[in-house]
Amino acid sequence: MLSVTVKACCVMACCAMAAWSEKSKFFTVLLDPGHTPKMGGATSVRGIKEVVYNDHLAAILADTLSAHGLRVLLTRRPGEDVSLEDRVAVSRNSQAQCFIALHHDSAQPKYLEQINSNGVEAFSTRIPIRGYSIFVSQKNVQYQKSLSLAQGIGRSVLSLGRKPTLHHAEPIPGENRPLLDSTLGIYRFDDLVVLAKNLLPAILIEYGVLVDRTDEEYVSDSGNQARFAHAICGAIEEFVKK
Ligand SMILES: [Zn+2]
Repeated sequence: MLSVTVKACCVMACCAMAAWSEKSKFFTVLLDPGHTPKMGGATSVRGIKEVVYNDHLAAILADTLSAHGLRVLLTRRPGEDVSLEDRVAVSRNSQAQCFIALHHDSAQPKYLEQINSNGVEAFSTRIPIRGYSIFVSQKNVQYQKSLSLAQGIGRSVLSLGRKPTLHHAEPIPGENRPLLDSTLGIYRFDDLVVLAKNLLPAILIEYGVLVDRTDEEYVSDSGNQARFAHAICGAIEEFVKK
């Protein structure tokens, strides 16, 4: 577990919410950057492993949340290998109030074609598959609170003009996830270990689809990353008030 200190205060519009409630001063968010250096997750259209994107986004989000007065912990530092079970153990010992797993998405092989990206083998979508997804597990002991957090984050991300991708609901092997809210992009995925075994309200968000060239460019843009971080921050502020 890694405690995060404030590096710099942002100058985004949501700094208007500097007047956090007393409650929020003691509110701790546990961020879980998905995958590890050895098991890097999806490969982007540029041949870069998902874990690199996850770690980068976690760092930006941690800075933003810290700058707004929240306490932030991470399950894993960049470069560390931490198992799913150990992430759950970190969560159980963390005394945090919510858990957010950060990931970037891929698509089923039938939608992909192999490409060469600057000498690196990579894959690209044959058709546009773009947007974010949020997952919750009904096995989580705080399922209703997890769903409430997911709804708040979905509304905030949607307000950025970002759309959810609904491809995880396709009735094919490897997908077929129950779609709880098609407008907000919320799915049920009961057996995700970090959600199901977590004692905290817990969600997993896929920020964008790395095998789609347009979406990969979107999630790699520093302005978009900052806006996303502020959107999450705003949603957590609402969650704290409940
Ligand atoms: Zn992932």
